[in-house]
Amino acid sequence: MDHRPKKRFGQNFLRDRSILDKIIAAAELAPQSRVLEIGPGLGALTDLLLEEAGNLQVIELDRDLVERFRQRNDPRLQIHEGDVLRLDWTAILTEPPYTLVANLPYNISSQVVFKLLDHHMLFERMVLMFQKEVADRLCAGPGNRDYGILSVLCALYFDLEMVTRVAPGSFYPPPKVQSAVVAFTPLSAPRLPVGDEAFFRRVVKAAFAQRRKTLRNTLGAGGFNAEVVRTALAEVGIDPTRRGETLDLKEFVSLAQALATMQESADAGR
Ligand code: SAM
Repeated sequence: MDHRPKKRFGQNFLRDRSILDKIIAAAELAPQSRVLEIGPGLGALTDLLLEEAGNLQVIELDRDLVERFRQRNDPRLQIHEGDVLRLDWTAILTEPPYTLVANLPYNISSQVVFKLLDHHMLFERMVLMFQKEVADRLCAGPGNRDYGILSVLCALYFDLEMVTRVAPGSFYPPPKVQSAVVAFTPLSAPRLPVGDEAFFRRVVKAAFAQRRKTLRNTLGAGGFNAEVVRTALAEVGIDPTRRGETLDLKEFVSLAQALATMQESADAGR
């Protein structure tokens, strides 16, 4: 390998054929699939993706690696140089749905998932490699210490499936952490109707902002009026001394709806 891996770009290149094959199989590609790969690196996944699907776009931040792909002159490959978090996905992905495949740089993986949540309608399937702790958080259910904002929001928009765990030795250089591959299938509509999605996110964020606090306190600290919080919790039959991490998706949805209604009537009565 004549490329020296760059730590600042989270470069841990996959070199384990069995893991590469599992990722490709999980992507469920067909010859007409349109594929996006984030961080193609030295092309371990890219080459296999090109064997399966005729249309591949890649987003890569490292200029040296971008140059290597450009020199290939492969008409099936569209190369976008830049930061995946800054690029406008809707400008690039003009013919949805796409399949997204990525061995993500670990330092930006949660931010990529938040961006995916905002663009879930562009994708039909996503297969992504994460640090194992992040994968556990995405897939966690209520009452589990890994359960958090991303678990609730992912459960709202996606079916998630843990594809495989990956040991450090499957990469060059080996990372210090274990990894895992997760497959996401976007739902055609949110699992439950949430109304105002931005408001729903605000409620979930507030509920998890101080994990050890009761809902009554953490929602209050999140900017919701104490009386609105009290009546909304009573309305949906949720004990105000429970913690946010014990609520399932359905409870979050009813709580957000009740908070929205109570806040509206409080604002109207002002
Ligand atoms: N796909 C390759 C593989 O599996 O061997 C490389 C994976 S490596 C973990 C992450 C890749 O993402 C690197 O190629 C790195 O340069 C690239 N990268 C890092 N930060 C990025 C960003 N913000 N936007 C786009 N690509 C990024």
